[in-house]
Amino acid sequence: MAQFTRVMRGAVFTQKTFPCKSCGATLVFSANDTALKCEYCGAINYIYPPKIPIYEHDLDKAIARIESAPRYDLQAPKEIKCPVCAATFRLEPHQRSTRCPYCNAPIVTNLDIFMPLAPEAVLPFAIDQKRAKEIFRKWVGSLWFAPAGLQKYTRAENNFEGIYLPYWTYDADTLTHFRGERGDTYYERVTRRIYIDGREALVEEMEPRIRWTPVEGEVQMHFDDILIGATRTLPRKLADTLQPWDLENLVPYDDKYLSGFESETYSVALDEGFDYAKSIMAFRIREAVRRRIGGDHQKISYMQIYHENKSFKYILLPVWTAQFHYRGKAYRFAINARTGVIRGERPWSMLKILFALLSLLTLLSALFYLSEHEEILSQMQLFFQQTLAQIEFR
Ligand SMILES: [Zn+2]
Ligand SMILES: [Zn+2]
Repeated sequence: MAQFTRVMRGAVFTQKTFPCKSCGATLVFSANDTALKCEYCGAINYIYPPKIPIYEHDLDKAIARIESAPRYDLQAPKEIKCPVCAATFRLEPHQRSTRCPYCNAPIVTNLDIFMPLAPEAVLPFAIDQKRAKEIFRKWVGSLWFAPAGLQKYTRAENNFEGIYLPYWTYDADTLTHFRGERGDTYYERVTRRIYIDGREALVEEMEPRIRWTPVEGEVQMHFDDILIGATRTLPRKLADTLQPWDLENLVPYDDKYLSGFESETYSVALDEGFDYAKSIMAFRIREAVRRRIGGDHQKISYMQIYHENKSFKYILLPVWTAQFHYRGKAYRFAINARTGVIRGERPWSMLKILFALLSLLTLLSALFYLSEHEEILSQMQLFFQQTLAQIEFR
């Protein structure tokens, strides 16, 4: 499919299913076979994606083109008719594929032809729902300071959803001018007046000082495939932390990979996504500038970043997601359906944390009691009290 879509006059929103070559029933994508599989007779139907290279596209040109592209009202209600059971139902604004809520038939729509950009590559699901559930159970079991019985709450949940989420990947060459100061530590001999048993004495000590020198310079950095979630369905802190992804295994987009899964078109615009990418780049550039300045301390007073040779790809990545409820609160998590990396929100057991800290405190008190360092002990106590106060405050 072309990267830029051309909405044809009179195009209608429509949907399709993929019939089995053996029995005509609907096919769904099987993570274990990397092929379409018949839900009825089990026949495997291979996918032959077009043998075309996956290009990276010029970012500025694309943004200009999107601005002048005709706009399609995504919020317009999208009724579709299930080709299997003929029931009609409504899709969410960004929903590209789903299952029929009445007969569970997999349905893929042509929503992309109404968007200025269509995805050009996809990483197919490699982890099926069964394994995703195992990964989740293991994760829940491995959580430190989790409330007792949490596993019981999560076991009952059965709302695992396989979804292809839209992502932007950005490349850029950057050139950064910076000004700042380099701080080098040196020691100076100082004489101090002290009292020992009421008698005055003079001692010499070496005291650390910092010598600051002004610096300026340039740092060049290349960024490749900065991955930014283009979805609003999953919180950014989940969507952007599911790395690593094996992007070298991207295949050209084909509707068939989506059959049986939910999928979304992008809802974070191309330029908005690049703003997120720029802040990730700026963070790494700042670190590079510090290394370039060198010395023991660095101050950066000015940093001007120029981005050149900007390019992007629009891709779909496979994720298992669900939420579980604990004491009336919902916790979301997501699993990278290629590598099994899992990220999620989780409840903490304040009681367990408190108990652990108290045990530690008792142990330390015993140690310090033995060595009679009462001053340090009281400082430690203060530290733990503050830590506890912070935890309780959360
Ligand atoms: Zn079949
Ligand atoms: Zn149906």
